[in-house]
Amino acid sequence: MSHIKLFIPGPVEVSEKTMRAFSRPMIGHRSKDFQALYADIHPKLQQIFYTKQPVFVSTSSAWGVMEGSIRNLVSKKVLTCMSGAFSDKWFDVAKKCGKSAEALQVDWGQPILPEAIEAKLATGEFDAVTLIHNETSTGTMNPLVDIAKVMRKFPDVQFIVDCVSSFTAMKIPFDELGIDLMLAGTQKALALPSGAALFTVSEKAFAKAATLKDRGYYFDFLEFKKNQESSMTPTTPSISHFYALQSKLEDMLTEGLDARYARHMENAKVTRAWVKDRGFAFFPKEGYESVTLTCVANNRGIDVAKLNSALKAKHSCVIDGGYGKIKGTSFRISHMGDESTENIRQLLGWIDGCLAEA
Ligand SMILES: *Cc1c(COP(=O)(O)O)cnc(C)c1O
Repeated sequence: MSHIKLFIPGPVEVSEKTMRAFSRPMIGHRSKDFQALYADIHPKLQQIFYTKQPVFVSTSSAWGVMEGSIRNLVSKKVLTCMSGAFSDKWFDVAKKCGKSAEALQVDWGQPILPEAIEAKLATGEFDAVTLIHNETSTGTMNPLVDIAKVMRKFPDVQFIVDCVSSFTAMKIPFDELGIDLMLAGTQKALALPSGAALFTVSEKAFAKAATLKDRGYYFDFLEFKKNQESSMTPTTPSISHFYALQSKLEDMLTEGLDARYARHMENAKVTRAWVKDRGFAFFPKEGYESVTLTCVANNRGIDVAKLNSALKAKHSCVIDGGYGKIKGTSFRISHMGDESTENIRQLLGWIDGCLAEA
């Protein structure tokens, strides 16, 4: 179907194969067919999360699970690591859930460093930390492995990690890193339609959730756990997403996870080389550039809106003109999901062409 292809960091382009799976006829969500569907994909979900824990599919966008993590895992005070639009908002969400929260704020484009987290946790005031691995608004990737090392010194603190825009673009081993809650959205690196989120929960986090009385219902981790034991979901899920996931997992395991990670890295390298070669600068601090999207500082002062109109008219595609307060002074090129390095090269060529004519 002819349409405008999205090189924005979510939603991204969804393949025809995925769309066909997504549009399969409905089945009863309490039927044996549904149980068989969930049971079929579950071990593969555990494989991509590198976990023995149950993996859940929530019929909500990522924010549902992000809010749920606060409701399920915070009783004392949460330290919210803030470095961009999404991570900044998590602080507000914690407050709106009536929780005590403290900001660990750095400038947009700067990374969250393990030392800063360690200094805060040493006060003993906190029982949870929220971290966004890949801050999509600024294209900045935080040093998750080093942060996880610090978190292991604080076994009473829940480590809540949003991998919404990095999940399956690189290896993020949940069990090995000692993460307590990890979540991903469907419309980013997974290249599925928007409207669902995946997550997994550690034993430590289930135990913590059991001590909280006001977990609510829709995002109650213990409800998800109980239902998953019989390959069910608490409420009627987006069955279409289960079918699409089944198809996508098949694609991923056919490509091979390592090959998938290497492809994402290659896409990033090609885009970064283009940025340097064309005299642009990176928005994020050097060494912390995202693997799934490139956030370009618009130091050349190009008219991004005009560029996007030209891309749309000539090549039926768009990039992103920058998020929130850095709109216009930065722009973002997404290279996640199903994109091949060839596709990315072609896109960069189109951008060159449009800029040359502008
Ligand atoms: C897109 C995004 C979200 C929000 O996802 P929704 O699907 O809109 O709820 C949260 N965190 C990060 C890092 C994102 O990129």
